[in-house]
Amino acid sequence: ETQREERRFETEVSQLLHLMIHALYSNREIFLRELISNAADACDKLRFEALAHPDTITQPAELHIDLRFDKDQREIRVIDNGIGMSRDEVVANIGTIARSGTKEFLSQLTGDQQKDALLIGQFGVGFYSSFTVADRVTVETRRADAPEDGAVRWQSDGTGSYTIETCSRPVPGTEVILHLKEDADEFLEAYRLRHIITRYSDHVAFPIRMPKLDDDGKPTDEWETVNRASALWTRAKSDITDDEYREFYKHVAHDFEDPTAWVHSHVEGKQQYTTLFYIPKRAPFDLWDRDRRHGVKLYVKRVFIMDDAEKMLPNYLRFVRGVVDSSDLPLNVSREILQNNRLVDGIRSGSVKKILGLLESIAENEPEQYAEIWANFGRVLKEGPGEDYANREQIAKLLRFASTRNDDDTQNVSLAEYKARMPEGQKAIYVVTADSPAAARNSPHLEIFRKHGIEVLLLSDRVDEWLLSHLDGFDGTPIKSVSKGDLDLDDVTGEQDAKSGDDAATADDLGDLPERIAKALGERVESVRASKRLVESPACIVLGEHEMALYLQELLKQAGQ
Ligand code: ADP
Ligand code: MG
Repeated sequence: ETQREERRFETEVSQLLHLMIHALYSNREIFLRELISNAADACDKLRFEALAHPDTITQPAELHIDLRFDKDQREIRVIDNGIGMSRDEVVANIGTIARSGTKEFLSQLTGDQQKDALLIGQFGVGFYSSFTVADRVTVETRRADAPEDGAVRWQSDGTGSYTIETCSRPVPGTEVILHLKEDADEFLEAYRLRHIITRYSDHVAFPIRMPKLDDDGKPTDEWETVNRASALWTRAKSDITDDEYREFYKHVAHDFEDPTAWVHSHVEGKQQYTTLFYIPKRAPFDLWDRDRRHGVKLYVKRVFIMDDAEKMLPNYLRFVRGVVDSSDLPLNVSREILQNNRLVDGIRSGSVKKILGLLESIAENEPEQYAEIWANFGRVLKEGPGEDYANREQIAKLLRFASTRNDDDTQNVSLAEYKARMPEGQKAIYVVTADSPAAARNSPHLEIFRKHGIEVLLLSDRVDEWLLSHLDGFDGTPIKSVSKGDLDLDDVTGEQDAKSGDDAATADDLGDLPERIAKALGERVESVRASKRLVESPACIVLGEHEMALYLQELLKQAGQ
């Protein structure tokens, strides 16, 4: 009556496991970090659920993570007394990869160990990294609200399938048992395991315990805490090393790579809260996915409340990872309460300031690093002026664009730089929008600007029209699209034109041609005019000052709007 079944892994899981074992080989000690990270998450969740459902879930006297090993059996066990999993949760969480972009991700793997290791790290493999050291993994788990005989045993050798059956466990929580491969002896040494824990998991807020050793080096029944076991963000900044910040990031962000930068603040005043925010090195695979997981974790008085507390930061900062810990919010705070809460609004605007400040100082002091941040997250930041009107000036300083002044399409010109280079008499910051960098660069609207050596910013990201509709100026100078309305270039170009007289003559030379064209085009155009815009092309389409860009109109039409 154990309801034993054998199931095959999803194809993606099998593929991933196979590739991962090779790619992560040289760095396989991180399996322990991943298992401890999961155990810590499970302890966090238990504490929260015990608060939310006190009648079905009781919190044990102490939450902890225990590590045992047995040389003769060649086994390592990671045991937590956290939330545990039901049978359905086991199947959903460790037999599948419930993430969008999995297929795309797998198709990018090349077989080159170093490149793949980076990609796999970026994708995040968590629990599966166990199979880099183990030839058999067993998970025994009992959900905190399940009876003693309602536990589940999951087992697999990491090739094609796993078994799952009902079992019995005296206390709730999860035990992961790794049967080590022949070449993984090094992980059966106490000092090695301790070393890995201090290196990667010292910041974990729960005690990580190992058995005390007797004089012969044999494990006893007594436990000894190996890590520091205090929540990292609560500590004073001066007391935290960069390495500790980095390892903590990997835990909160479920990332394998170091972060690019972070900002840690203890705020006191009307409200008391602590924030620790990180900028990841790379965009996650699900940055554009509405159902993405893992944003900012919310704690109240050090008690974990929720993952991905999306109300804590605006959408355009959704690439930021980290922790918010409030001393003022109630412990029973729900997503609904977060929607409309003055305390949350206060924390949120304080947090935005910190993050924008961090980005600004990187942009100023470490332009190369900022270029990387921009390449990864620029398109997301461009949503900012539309979403966060109050901070649009500050966000505008962070924007970078491609420019006619450069030969390539790298977005590296700031509005401030552009403005500083403007020749006397130029009244606006000129931009051209198109649906590709090449189309922007080759726009006929640029001819007059090229002729007079006036720089134009080239905008070709989808979000750019949206950006322009919310950012009509920078530092007192209007931003104008070269394809809209009147250009008002006379003060920059006027003198030269008057001398040569070309443009003045244009309208006369054309005779009644504009009228005839207008007649031929009928309803499709508002008017046909002689223009100074063009140098080589015979004609171009100009939009009204407030009209939507052509390609955007086209997009909306395609979408049936
Ligand atoms: P991630 O931690 O990024 O979600 P993992 O592969 O590390 O990915 O873990 C997958 C899921 O399995 C977790 O999200 C969690 O739901 C579940 N899980 C893993 N280990 C435990 C554990 N010790 N206790 C409870 N649930 C766990
Ligand atoms: Mg994990």
